[in-house]
Amino acid sequence: MNVVGEEIDIVIAGAGICGLSTSLALHRKGIKSVVLERSERLRETGSGIAILANGWRALDQLGVASKLRQTSFLIQGLKWILINYCIHV
Ligand SMILES: Cc1cc2nc3c(=O)[nH]c(=O)nc-3n(C[C@H](O)[C@H](O)[C@H](O)COP(=O)(O)OP(=O)(O)OC[C@H]3O[C@@H](n4cnc5c(N)ncnc54)[C@H](O)[C@@H]3O)c2cc1C
Repeated sequence: MNVVGEEIDIVIAGAGICGLSTSLALHRKGIKSVVLERSERLRETGSGIAILANGWRALDQLGVASKLRQTSFLIQGLKWILINYCIHV
């Protein structure tokens, strides 16, 4: 595939966290990719991004975890409130 005169090895559909992480991982391996996004603008959903241990390991591998840790905080506990249940973790 040829985008703006450049050879591209892989096309990634979607510029969510998965698409962008995949593109960055490929870049670190010297593989060129292009990310296509159908939305015209960035948008927010949810209240934040919860990243578990395996996610942090992946972000460490990508070389972006230390920067993200500067603006993140450790969740000390969770309370799941369901309609008929309350589970303390
Ligand atoms: C309402 C809601 C609230 C959430 N809140 C939280 C939260 O608080 N904390 C948390 O950790 N997680 C939350 N999540 C889950 C989190 O958003 C997802 O796990 C995460 O965003 C998934 O990332 P992704 O890259 O796989 O997909 P997405 O973030 O959905 O990205 C996929 C992208 O691909 C694009 N796309 C799709 N098809 C095409 C196509 N054919 N061509 C081009 N582009 C395409 C879409 O427009 C989109 O931008 C929430 C999810 C939802 C729906």
